[in-house]
Amino acid sequence: MEALRALPSVDQVLASDAGRGLIAIYGRAATLAALRARLEAMRAALKAGDLADAACLPARLAADLADAARPRLRPVLNLSGTILHTNLGRAVLADDAIAAASAAMANPLALEFSLETGGRGERDDHLRGLLCELTGAEDATVVNNNAAAVLIALNTFGQGREAVVSRGELIEIGGAFRMPDIMVRAGVRLIEVGTTNRTHPRDYEGAIGPETGLILKVHTSNYRIEGFTAEVSAPRLAGIARKAGVPLLHDLGSGSLIDLSQLGLRREPTVAEAVAEGADLVTFSGDKLLGGPQAGFILGRRDLIAAINRNPLKRALRLDKIRIAALEATLRLYRDPDRLAERLPTLRHLSRPLAEITAQAERLAPLLAPLLPEGFAAAPCACDSQVGSGALPTDTLPSAGLRLTGQGGDAPDRLAGWLRSRATPAIGRIHDGALILDLRCLPSDDVLLAALGP
Ligand SMILES: *Cc1c(COP(=O)(O)O)cnc(C)c1O
Repeated sequence: MEALRALPSVDQVLASDAGRGLIAIYGRAATLAALRARLEAMRAALKAGDLADAACLPARLAADLADAARPRLRPVLNLSGTILHTNLGRAVLADDAIAAASAAMANPLALEFSLETGGRGERDDHLRGLLCELTGAEDATVVNNNAAAVLIALNTFGQGREAVVSRGELIEIGGAFRMPDIMVRAGVRLIEVGTTNRTHPRDYEGAIGPETGLILKVHTSNYRIEGFTAEVSAPRLAGIARKAGVPLLHDLGSGSLIDLSQLGLRREPTVAEAVAEGADLVTFSGDKLLGGPQAGFILGRRDLIAAINRNPLKRALRLDKIRIAALEATLRLYRDPDRLAERLPTLRHLSRPLAEITAQAERLAPLLAPLLPEGFAAAPCACDSQVGSGALPTDTLPSAGLRLTGQGGDAPDRLAGWLRSRATPAIGRIHDGALILDLRCLPSDDVLLAALGP
């Protein structure tokens, strides 16, 4: 076929100016692989009777290579209205934490080395002091995430034994974290007490026996049971546990180190309060309200923390140096609560004044409209943000954003797809026939205009 013969050879393309230019950027191996694939596709198209213009080859090849070179995991703009969006990586780190993590990546560091004695040190030592100072806990240890914190605590004290937990607290946290399943994997027999809506002290007392390894209390972080309800408070449960001589593990989930009512949010129990209430062990996440990297903290009695650290699972669940560095820098910010909201993005986003977000929406709407594809319009609107990651599940924060609309019932979906296809994708949410971009977490006007620009 004439057209097939008109296709250039691999060597011709590689030796051309365009080919040499691509090799300089992407390397010979990647350019060759992309070229072979592109030529194959053109041959197949020609054989099928489709048009395949050899003149387009260099441009197509350049686009293929640029596409393949784009990182799969790359920054997006979180305009979803969910501040701690698990699918968008939860907390954005503070500048200090980013700097500390970068230094930890680029240099050797005294991770398990004591600069005082020159002997061996412990990797948890870098965080233990700060955690105890900020929460009043006696001791602390750190693992990969809060799911791991719960797993290792259950396994350490409940393997081959029983854990007593209220039926009202057998939670599922998105994905595959279901408390009953975690218990099975931890080797613990689950003893459910009470009912979905009501659990009383006598329910726990009646279930405790010689096989009891621990009592578990779980903060119902992603739902709220309302109406005719009763739960046993942590201080009361701590008393029951002490009398029975078994540890009480309180899983807080999000766990805030500061009182959120200062920011006008609903009060959630702080970690320090949970410690003071007498739980023997308290667990919570690093990347939820705390605003740090993914991690799970276990605070509590020194003898119990030591037992957890002796569990061989600890080695499998331990943190890497990069996150320890970022966590240390994040926790240090909590020593100066007055400037925390300035420095910690999670708190900055949570406490951003509505008037400021509204002004931004009004400023951006007319600038954005001409950047949208033909036929779409943008208007400022009021909307509601939520905290996300299972914190304050029923509360919303009044916010402001842009309401993007177009012709046809699928207009919001088409626009969402277009926004996702940008070099810096912007993620909004579809609501009421429109695509809403909540501006609460937008770092600056320019970032959004650049993302939508040509
Ligand atoms: C989020 C959550 C977990 C899991 O924490 P990760 O850090 O996501 O592993 C466990 N328990 C509760 C109550 C939670 O809210």
